[in-house]
Amino acid sequence: MENSSPGKDISLEDIQSKFPLVAKQKSSHFSEFQIADVQFGPGLCPVFAGPNMVESEELIIDVALNIKNSGASFLRGGAFKPLTFPYRSKKYTETRENGIGWLAKAKSVAQIPIITEIMEERYLPLISEVSDILQIGARNMQNYPLLTACAKSGKPIMLKRGFGCSLRDWLGAAEYLLVEGNDRVILCERGIVAPHTHRSTSRFLLDLQVVPAAQEVTHLPVITDPSHACFWRPWVPNLAKASVAVGANGLMIEVHPDPSMAAVDPLQAIDYQEFNQLMEQLTRIGEACEVKVGSKDKLN
Ligand code: PEP
Ligand code: MN
Repeated sequence: MENSSPGKDISLEDIQSKFPLVAKQKSSHFSEFQIADVQFGPGLCPVFAGPNMVESEELIIDVALNIKNSGASFLRGGAFKPLTFPYRSKKYTETRENGIGWLAKAKSVAQIPIITEIMEERYLPLISEVSDILQIGARNMQNYPLLTACAKSGKPIMLKRGFGCSLRDWLGAAEYLLVEGNDRVILCERGIVAPHTHRSTSRFLLDLQVVPAAQEVTHLPVITDPSHACFWRPWVPNLAKASVAVGANGLMIEVHPDPSMAAVDPLQAIDYQEFNQLMEQLTRIGEACEVKVGSKDKLN
């Protein structure tokens, strides 16, 4: 890459031989591509919104209609979930195949594309049928056989950054996707492990600096997920605004009609009204930064 002095984490040799497909050819090189009817690339900030878990058909349809109306570009929601502990009450049980079916229903009722997580290769046919983007979660960023299988499917992929992984590790994982000929790849910063997160319930620290750092090296879109990073609803809107200001190429935001009742991660979701207000504010911040946030103009 031109004008790049080898940094702490990434050497010129890495750029040339470890992740040549992920690396920019020159500083103005940024990927531009379309997924469903949503465009990704410089000057654009599509918004992925929805609950942590696809809890029921009724809930996911209601969320889909509401977030679309506020200008979201994709509906997010997990049916196959990487839950930290194996013990589940009924409320915490993954909805799995049922959840994928409910996402399909929400997609058709609200006419909004879908992103959902895949954890095992054996569910690739089922999930690919419904999901417009395959989400590979932080915990699977370095599950290379899963990366390769997903990449070979030809489906667009969002690769979340492992919470203990460097930019170099992350770009190396992304190379596993591009080397299979899959070039619709989105990188998502979702918070990293840090000694100080400023609140006992905040599990991770949103690494805003990785956005410009990654964009210096790679042509792939880099988005943020402030909800999973800070884990604390009151901080999500401002971290989302900061993400737009720092140049993120997209945002993932957790939205639930009644956040305190969310089956998973009830501390981090914002409600419909907060999301709607946030989208209005992000639009104005985007205007100041020459970035189009969300997909509002396709509505009504
Ligand atoms: C999620 O987006 O639901 C999720 C589990 O995220 P992460 O992989 O970043 O923890
Ligand atoms: Mn989660």
